[in-house]
Amino acid sequence: MTRPLREFVHAFGLLLDTRPDEPHLLAQGGALLHTLVARDDWLPEAFAEPHPAYYRQYLLHADSTERFSVVSFVWGPGQATPVHDHTVWGLIGMLRGSEYSQGYVEREGAWVPGGEPVRLQPGDVEAVSPRVGDVHRVRNAFDDRVSISIHVYGANIGAVRRHTYPPEGGRRPFVSGYSNTLLPNLWDRSAELRSATA
Ligand code: FE
Repeated sequence: MTRPLREFVHAFGLLLDTRPDEPHLLAQGGALLHTLVARDDWLPEAFAEPHPAYYRQYLLHADSTERFSVVSFVWGPGQATPVHDHTVWGLIGMLRGSEYSQGYVEREGAWVPGGEPVRLQPGDVEAVSPRVGDVHRVRNAFDDRVSISIHVYGANIGAVRRHTYPPEGGRRPFVSGYSNTLLPNLWDRSAELRSATA
């Protein structure tokens, strides 16, 4: 049942082939992501498993030339990120449950919450980037259930130098890793072809 993800990956690659500027990329890529997360029947269980102590980031796909990557974020009850940046564009699509994203802005050298947190519901898509706002803190909206969002980044996010912004000020370098060592098999279409032949 990975077909929706495979179609998304294919369409996203074609979109990047057109070399869109960032506003077009976020709009058209966001529409593709909206279509992907509008249904919740395709994410394999292995990429939806929470961890009791930490939110998980499962790589679902890395573009062969690292133009983009697709990650499932699995939030256990009450789990949250530190305040962090991305340094590349990112699209966040809510698949299951709900999350809050609180944007941060710099005021006199300190990073403070800017505006109201955005609450994402299934099907909703949000964008981040150095251009549209890159620093935020995200948390599961629920204290008693798992939430999952699908993230698309303009790079292999496991190879990007980023920062967290601790409450005491300044910023710390970090590189996010992936929770999985295996990837979903998007490319074995033998069952599909066999049933089409039968
Ligand atoms: Fe983020």
